[in-house]
Amino acid sequence: THEHLSALAHTIQQAQHIAVLSGAGMSTESGIPDFRSANGLFTRDRSFADVVNIDYFYADPAGFWAAFKEIFKLKLAGNYEPNGGHRFLAELEQGGKRVSVLTQNIDGLHHKAGSSEVLELHGTLVKATCLQCGTPHDLDYLQQHDVPQCRQCDEILKPDVVLYGEAVPLVEPAFELAVQADLMLVLGSSLEVGPVNLIPREARRAGVTCALINLEPTHLDYVFELLVHDRIGATCDKLRALGALD
Ligand code: NAD
Repeated sequence: THEHLSALAHTIQQAQHIAVLSGAGMSTESGIPDFRSANGLFTRDRSFADVVNIDYFYADPAGFWAAFKEIFKLKLAGNYEPNGGHRFLAELEQGGKRVSVLTQNIDGLHHKAGSSEVLELHGTLVKATCLQCGTPHDLDYLQQHDVPQCRQCDEILKPDVVLYGEAVPLVEPAFELAVQADLMLVLGSSLEVGPVNLIPREARRAGVTCALINLEPTHLDYVFELLVHDRIGATCDKLRALGALD
């Protein structure tokens, strides 16, 4: 692993354009549980994937909102702070590189850390747009109403997160950025959720160097030339010490 770490530090240092794909493991060091932990969470006898599901939203919007609020406490963006991993990416950008952050997270922490190019592939927790008339509503409004309804037309709002069963609207630009980059860096994702999990293999096919930092091995580890199975925060500190930001 040390060999991979030095090689990764060198590759980052040399890269002009880095495409990052981040997952829930990016934010565990900020205190937000990842999917595996959240998966243990049962609300009204429904699993995480059953709740965060477009069919359930349409079948029972009130039940959906109760369970959704319970899972996410609807205040992630306000109460949590970016960690060293988020800051490392912002620092790479400050150092003059282009860093395209493709994130599966809905917590807004990449923006908060100062990254300027962030594609929130699974949407964001902090807004809800009316499906009927398009009126946007902010987090305060969502927190104030148990079952938030549009202030213009009374339609029950759907949060601006991509639910299971919905298309991922930004997936094509994400693939395009990944194949244009000279390094694809995956941080904290089990790579279980499609179609986003197909992005690294596509980048590799296009000749982009692919690296992964994840605590546990994933079923797609074979795609990556550079692998570090460790925490993101500690690894970013080591990469810094090895000159990745020079
Ligand atoms: P996942 O939970 O399936 O996988 C997270 C991976 O990160 C795991 O393999 C774990 O070993 C690793 N990990 C955990 N902490 C780590 C650390 N400190 N350093 C390095 N690796 C670490 O997450 P996923 O692949 O993003 O898929 C989960 C889905 O659930 C996504 O679609 C996402 O939208 C959603 N989700 C989002 C959040 C969030 O916004 N923070 C939280 C939970 C779930």
